[in-house]
Amino acid sequence: MDQKAPVVVVVVPFPAQGHLNQLLHFCCLISSYGIPVHYVGSATHNRQAKDRVHGWDPLTISNIHFHDFPIPPFLTPPPNPHAPNRFPVHLQPAFDASSQLRDPLAALLRSLSPTSRRIAVVHDPLMAFTAQDAVSVTNAETYTLHGVSAFVVFYHIWKSFGKPTFPGIAILNDLPSLAGCSTDQFLGFIARQYEYMKFDSGHIYNTCRPMEGVFLDLLAQEQFTGNKKQWAIGPLNPIVLDTSLDSDRRHKCLEWLDKQAPGSVLYVAFGTTVSIPDDQIMEIAIGLESSKQRFIWVLREADKGDIYVEEEEAGKAKLPNGYEERVEGVGLIERDWAPQLEILAHPSTGGFLSHCGWNSCIESISMGVPIAAWPMHSDQPRNTILVTEVLKVGVVVREWAQRDEVVPSATIESAISKLMVSEEGEGMRRRAEELGCAVRESVSGDGASRIELESFIAHISR
Ligand code: UDP
Repeated sequence: MDQKAPVVVVVVPFPAQGHLNQLLHFCCLISSYGIPVHYVGSATHNRQAKDRVHGWDPLTISNIHFHDFPIPPFLTPPPNPHAPNRFPVHLQPAFDASSQLRDPLAALLRSLSPTSRRIAVVHDPLMAFTAQDAVSVTNAETYTLHGVSAFVVFYHIWKSFGKPTFPGIAILNDLPSLAGCSTDQFLGFIARQYEYMKFDSGHIYNTCRPMEGVFLDLLAQEQFTGNKKQWAIGPLNPIVLDTSLDSDRRHKCLEWLDKQAPGSVLYVAFGTTVSIPDDQIMEIAIGLESSKQRFIWVLREADKGDIYVEEEEAGKAKLPNGYEERVEGVGLIERDWAPQLEILAHPSTGGFLSHCGWNSCIESISMGVPIAAWPMHSDQPRNTILVTEVLKVGVVVREWAQRDEVVPSATIESAISKLMVSEEGEGMRRRAEELGCAVRESVSGDGASRIELESFIAHISR
């Protein structure tokens, strides 16, 4: 009898929260089919992924094999809110060091090879270089898991093909400039990955047909992605969360939300990579206060490359004098890690002021919460267009062309009022609720994402 495991899955995340998180969600989904799953990273990034995971039963996580591989020591400077653009350049040393996972990953694949019929290596696009040795392991095959929207992936491919005309995509001609989204060093890092992606057997997307069917159909066209298979299995984040009242460990943000009226609270958070200068923080504070809306504001510094390295002088963002006392009862300021997914799922949350990182977009939409979009870097300006102009579930706070200017409190207040209390905002809320319903259905029962996940499982188990 063949004692080999039919298939094992080895997952290679990129070491930034928004990526660590998505690939860990993916591991949980695969593991629920009884397939052995291995998660590869440095000790500190694996610890970060585990410490911050939300929405899953701890038992599911305990079934995943985490491999803490050594990488060379890397600099972990604090984020710089005064850098020329908002891209988290301080994380680059951690990104570069992660390429050194290549050798231990190759050794892991060689050790799994004799005891498995097939190894499916699922890597972040930014880790294609690191996963390159899979090609020399006879029973291994690689897949890219895209942690950005299909809209963004298609946009870049479409541009490289000379912008051909297709019905329904005129919007792509008017997307904001890529200037200010990244650094030359990071663009070089991305370019280094491309040649290794040609070995991939297929593409997995953290999105779903109700949100991005048009762009998924375009991506499926042979002219764009060859004859590679694709599966849209998102949202990867859990959609049913236990927000019961009985737990001692219930977070203070959730307790506060319990006391608020349905749909009345604006959740404000800019992800894990953005550092906001003091003068902009002041304007946000005043804009929130004068909007007279209830809010939870996550006011934490961007992550460092190693989040466990203590800073000598931890910088605490300054607020106007007496601000916290003045807004008490109306606004809650959270300076530590917030349970974002649970906050978005809470019935009292009625809007999200967000930087439009892809996790934040898909988490918000899957919970039916409309967005006030304030893009900061990377794919966020394009996600903003998807959210506001394609899906029509959000309002823009400030245009990308004004990215170098401090956004005044009056502009922030007006965007908040539009989202939370205007007729236009009501329409966005209704569409967000409908879309949220369709998104949740797509990952349950015989919804499109569930069917595609099962098709992926059948494909790797063939
Ligand atoms: N997040 C959270 N609590 C926080 C800050 C962030 O749970 O206090 C999570 C959020 O739910 C999301 C991820 O961190 O899953 C941030 O990813 P996103 O793509 O939105 O932005 P990035 O941090 O990559 O810019």
